[in-house]
Amino acid sequence: MTEKVELDAVIIGGGVIGLATAFKLAQKFPELDIAILESGPYFGDQTTGRNSGVLHAGIYYPKNSLKNRFCLTGLEAWYDFASKYKIPHLRCGKYIVAGESSEDHLLDSLFEKATDAGARDLRFAENSEIETLSSQVHISKAIFSPHTGVIDVAQAMKTLLKLTESHGVSAMKNHHVRSIEKSDSGFLLSLENLEISTKLCFNCAGLRGIDLRKTLSLTNLENLFVKGVYLTTNQKLGYKSLLYPMPLEKLKGLGVHATIEPDGKIKFGPNAFEVDQINYNIEDKDYFELMNSVKFFFKGVDESRCHPDFSGIRPKILDNGALHPDFWVKTPADLNIEGYFECCGIESPGLTSAFSIADYLVDSINV
Ligand SMILES: Cc1cc2nc3c(=O)[nH]c(=O)nc-3n(C[C@H](O)[C@H](O)[C@H](O)COP(=O)(O)OP(=O)(O)OC[C@H]3O[C@@H](n4cnc5c(N)ncnc54)[C@H](O)[C@@H]3O)c2cc1C
Repeated sequence: MTEKVELDAVIIGGGVIGLATAFKLAQKFPELDIAILESGPYFGDQTTGRNSGVLHAGIYYPKNSLKNRFCLTGLEAWYDFASKYKIPHLRCGKYIVAGESSEDHLLDSLFEKATDAGARDLRFAENSEIETLSSQVHISKAIFSPHTGVIDVAQAMKTLLKLTESHGVSAMKNHHVRSIEKSDSGFLLSLENLEISTKLCFNCAGLRGIDLRKTLSLTNLENLFVKGVYLTTNQKLGYKSLLYPMPLEKLKGLGVHATIEPDGKIKFGPNAFEVDQINYNIEDKDYFELMNSVKFFFKGVDESRCHPDFSGIRPKILDNGALHPDFWVKTPADLNIEGYFECCGIESPGLTSAFSIADYLVDSINV
């Protein structure tokens, strides 16, 4: 038998975007009856749990793009949140490195664009820093970003989930939404043995967001999944800041970088290759390709002490067949569908941007 439930607002997808949205919505509108529905047995187990965990400083994205704006404000929101709730994090800074002099002009241009786009306190590395870095990477020239950092994503998600629930939101795992249908009073969501009617519907379903919007007859977007693999090492490499090469063309990825986790663990990755399916296995060929990229840029990494870590998939999107390079964050006014909000294509820097995306959606509501 199908149970029927009526709610004011439903957030579909329990990743960082869905949870931040549920939290902000409940904070601003405590009178609403809100649920967040997650397909899987855990919150934050998909893309949110499969990334570099870097809090980005808005360096790579075109000025005034959503990625640029949300990243800049989202960064400080995370540092405030992490300090307030004692979530392990490091404002360790990052170097972006031109590996050889032929890349110097690209680094100069990145510096100018990033500074113009609002990335704060960027500077070129001094000679003494280049000397230190030259034992770690192939280097001609580098930029230092002091406000880039890392956060313990699993702890952040645990805290966010707890806070969201403490604001009265029902957080329901193992609740897969099959379809969204428009109704007179809002939306009808179909799940196994359950039908939910809701006035507000937030599609924050990550890699599955496009499938879900198709059930509402929104058909202009298609998926372009780009997978990335990480490896880890137990070698003590002495990195004090994150180390990045120049980004890949058209920002397919930021380049295979070294990330220090708040507990000191070092990981390298991710590489970037297109896939058709959501599958997190690490094939030998992808691991070896990654290892080669690591050896190409980093010095002194002992291959025998490295091993595969995990993989993640970037939810890139095509809009009417063309790559849409920005986040796709839409409110009811954008789509002319009263009560419907959606976030698709939330690739990097989506983790960093989560609170700002949530504020943007929630601030568009006039109840
Ligand atoms: C390799 C990689 C590295 C990255 N590195 C960084 C980084 O360093 N810094 C940064 O800021 N960003 C980074 N990102 C981006 C960041 O991870 C994402 O932007 C962010 O996690 C997206 O969160 P989300 O909530 O949209 O998606 P998800 O975390 O995927 O959450 C969506 C959730 O919806 C659920 N769901 C799907 N369909 C349904 C349904 N029908 N019903 C119910 N639930 C459903 C899924 O199970 C999932 O839990 C990286 C991404 C990748 C892939």
